[in-house]
Amino acid sequence: MERLQKVIAHAGIASRRKAEEYIANGRVKVNGKIVRELGTQVGKSDKVEVDDVPIYKEEYGYYLFYKPKGVISAVSDDKGRKVVTDFFSHIKERIYPVGRLDYDTSGLLLLTNDGEFSQKLTHPSHEIDKVYVAKVKGLAKKHDLLPLTKGMKIEGYKTAPAAFEIISVDLKTNTSIVELTIHEGRNHQVKKMLQAVGYPVQKLKREKYGDLTLKGLRPGEYRNLNKKEISVLL
Ligand code: URA
Repeated sequence: MERLQKVIAHAGIASRRKAEEYIANGRVKVNGKIVRELGTQVGKSDKVEVDDVPIYKEEYGYYLFYKPKGVISAVSDDKGRKVVTDFFSHIKERIYPVGRLDYDTSGLLLLTNDGEFSQKLTHPSHEIDKVYVAKVKGLAKKHDLLPLTKGMKIEGYKTAPAAFEIISVDLKTNTSIVELTIHEGRNHQVKKMLQAVGYPVQKLKREKYGDLTLKGLRPGEYRNLNKKEISVLL
């Protein structure tokens, strides 16, 4: 069951606020009867009409996608580059990514057509740990990375404390593999944080989102989230 204004908004007819106005003004019918109560709950089998026109109720879809690098986290690109929804051309829901991964970043990206779910997950107060694995230039030393755990000033704002682990260092190529766990999601945040402690990122992958991992998926593949996985995220 869902709130009537959400169902109307989700059908793409109006914003949530406009939908509330329609309801209050008696323009909305549920199963043939005008409903003015804003919180009215409607289910799948209820017939909802706005100005006597039945609305099409799109099913919600929730997907876990292994984004390859070289793909834009958007539903279209004016430069004609590949976008994440190109990988979902045969599903009927109009989904979009929850937040973003950079063009050259690979890894775990969620997609949905549930606006409320997406908003909740991307809101700064919603602290879901995301684990990134970065290949950085330089031989990483614990001491250099410690500021990441305290929070640091980047472009005028202070990052929340992050956790890190040095996975390996490679003397031959002068690179290291560093795992960084953060719950914020600002633009290029991982790259900026590692750059700020002296280790520019050469390659980046998001391995985990909360408890979700890429297990069983190859780049370009996706799977549905199950009900439990969805509720744990919220
Ligand atoms: N941080 C980055 O710098 N890039 C991403 O794609 C995700 C997090």
